[in-house]
Amino acid sequence: MATGFVFHELYLWHNTWNWAQVFPPGLTVQPGTHAENPETKRRIRNLLEVSGLLDKLVAIKPREATVEEVARVHTQAHIRHIREISDKGYGDASQLTPLGSGSYEIALLAAGGAIEAVDAVVKGKVANAYALIRPPGHHATKDVGMGFCLFANAAIAVRHAQKVLGLDRVATVDWDVHHGNGTQAIFYDDPSVLTISLHQDNLFPAASGGIAENGEGKGRGYNINVPLPPGSGPGAYVAAFERVVLPALARYKPELIIVPSGFDAGGVDPLGRMMMSAEGYRSLTRMLKEAAADLCNGRIAMTHEGGYSEMYAPYCGLAVLEELSGRKTRIDDPWGPMMAQWGGMDAQPHQLAVIDEAAQLVQRMS
Ligand code: ZN
Repeated sequence: MATGFVFHELYLWHNTWNWAQVFPPGLTVQPGTHAENPETKRRIRNLLEVSGLLDKLVAIKPREATVEEVARVHTQAHIRHIREISDKGYGDASQLTPLGSGSYEIALLAAGGAIEAVDAVVKGKVANAYALIRPPGHHATKDVGMGFCLFANAAIAVRHAQKVLGLDRVATVDWDVHHGNGTQAIFYDDPSVLTISLHQDNLFPAASGGIAENGEGKGRGYNINVPLPPGSGPGAYVAAFERVVLPALARYKPELIIVPSGFDAGGVDPLGRMMMSAEGYRSLTRMLKEAAADLCNGRIAMTHEGGYSEMYAPYCGLAVLEELSGRKTRIDDPWGPMMAQWGGMDAQPHQLAVIDEAAQLVQRMS
């Protein structure tokens, strides 16, 4: 069975204006390009086309999520707030999150893309799927759009899997370099969703994503954070998968795995200070695929989050899609040989110490 792929041109029309990376321009900040601009995603799709892999993927057509579907996760006030800014034509959802005319509809299309990816995977139309959607979603909480995110795409797709497709247990494995705080918050007291986030320690949001944040109430034990030290490379990520992610999944036995997928842990990303490589992302995808084959009939759906290196994110995306689909293309990562020689790509003792601390949480899972 093939791998599904969600994309729509309108994802690139969500307007984040002429902010300077993450700051609004003004008399002390020269106007520039917002970090979350269309180019990185456009280039991921372009490389998929040039590699020939796009032709082998099954196109899944996105649709706008309905307000009812979005409201399974968000408050009506939040949905209204985003719509009002979008209708007005310009504004900030809360912090660092500018949007423009049409962004509300495009955000609905992103959420609907995540829903359709999950729908196709669970119904067995495709083996697995990648939704290259925009704006991203994993920082958005029930009532706040933040960190470039308007609606929580992955969380909305989780609720679709449960309410419409009848699944009981879903796991999310977030490898974006930033903490998946929104996904965590939405399911914090809910044992029907295991949320796992691997991220750079205390990067964004501030004071978020520590190991002690382990869920509450009935959801206690079902949120796992692995706050990796800056400088972590493929060795640390693979160790975190071996010691935390895979054992947690084996214990939890999800019926579906959703990956909020960011490539901003890449070694040359402007917003992260990690050293992941395309090969590293390939390894994580392979491990997850093997786990999913054992646990949940191979069901994996990925929703695109961050990744801000225009030059590098496409190679990470290609590696993940090659691995998901089981098809290697003729294109090699041009950065690969250089990155492989960097120091510290193997797991370092201080990184393993954090991973082993997080692994203790898995022992305590019921
Ligand atoms: Zn990110």
